[in-house]
Amino acid sequence: MHTHTDLSDGTTSIEANVADAIELGLEGLGVTDHDTTTPFERALAAADGTGLEVVLGTEFSAELAGLSVHVLGYGIDPHDDTLREELIRLREERTIRARAIVGRFNDLDVPITFGRVLELAGDAPIGRPHIAQAVVETGAAADTREVFDTWLADGGPAYVAKHAVDPTHAVELLRGAGGVAVLAHPGLFGARDGLTGVPDGAIEEMVAAGLAGIEADHPDHTGEHQDHYRDLARAHDLVVTSGSDYHGQAKDNRLGSATTFRAEVERLLARRPSRS
Ligand code: AMP
Ligand code: ZN
Ligand code: FE
Ligand code: FE
Repeated sequence: MHTHTDLSDGTTSIEANVADAIELGLEGLGVTDHDTTTPFERALAAADGTGLEVVLGTEFSAELAGLSVHVLGYGIDPHDDTLREELIRLREERTIRARAIVGRFNDLDVPITFGRVLELAGDAPIGRPHIAQAVVETGAAADTREVFDTWLADGGPAYVAKHAVDPTHAVELLRGAGGVAVLAHPGLFGARDGLTGVPDGAIEEMVAAGLAGIEADHPDHTGEHQDHYRDLARAHDLVVTSGSDYHGQAKDNRLGSATTFRAEVERLLARRPSRS
């Protein structure tokens, strides 16, 4: 229910992810690139006739107090004008922000260039993993994990917040496009600043805006996170999802390492608002 491709900051093609999902024996594949719906047509074409069900979505960039909050949206209409305009804005602002992050690295004597970052991103909205890759190429760090730990994690010395919308507005936009919103990996919020996750009060505001689910199970969550967000889901009648957040070679998470039962996916998608 949570995977990336090279159409955002993963390293594998959507066709490869579909083939791997089938190989693994998965019944379905959530397609959730950051701030884009570009993989949709290719995902449908690759899955056509294979029996694999693709659950099309996006991982929408929101923020709270300058720190990332990711909101997964499933079942959205990629042609919805309001959502499309916001996605375009998010991608444009990512380019501006990438230039600022490159400047930060240069100030810190790490000689990356914006041109190389653009090359590495290709057609994808530019994400920090692309920048981290450029830093590794200069030899300043051994791997992208080190780049994040030293400079690029939320709140780090080269971190620049990106333009993002309020989490509640993200929920409204995704619902407005006919989809359901799921709060992604809430436990990761503010990790570098000693926070232990998205504050419950902020989640409750998202619930009031129509949040349908919460990704309580994520490879980077602790057991405490899992328990806490499962309890919160029960208290607010949210569907619990589980996703690998697969990024190909850009992250250790393996495809299929965290899965959601079909019945839960169906329960989630049944919460799509009826559109007139
Ligand atoms: P961005 O959307 O440009 O802010 O980048 C977000 C992506 O960067 C996430 O989807 C992760 O793949 C990666 N990321 C964020 N924080 C970390 C971290 N602390 N360590 C490793 N990867 C991270
Ligand atoms: Zn990512
Ligand atoms: Fe995320
Ligand atoms: Fe993700």
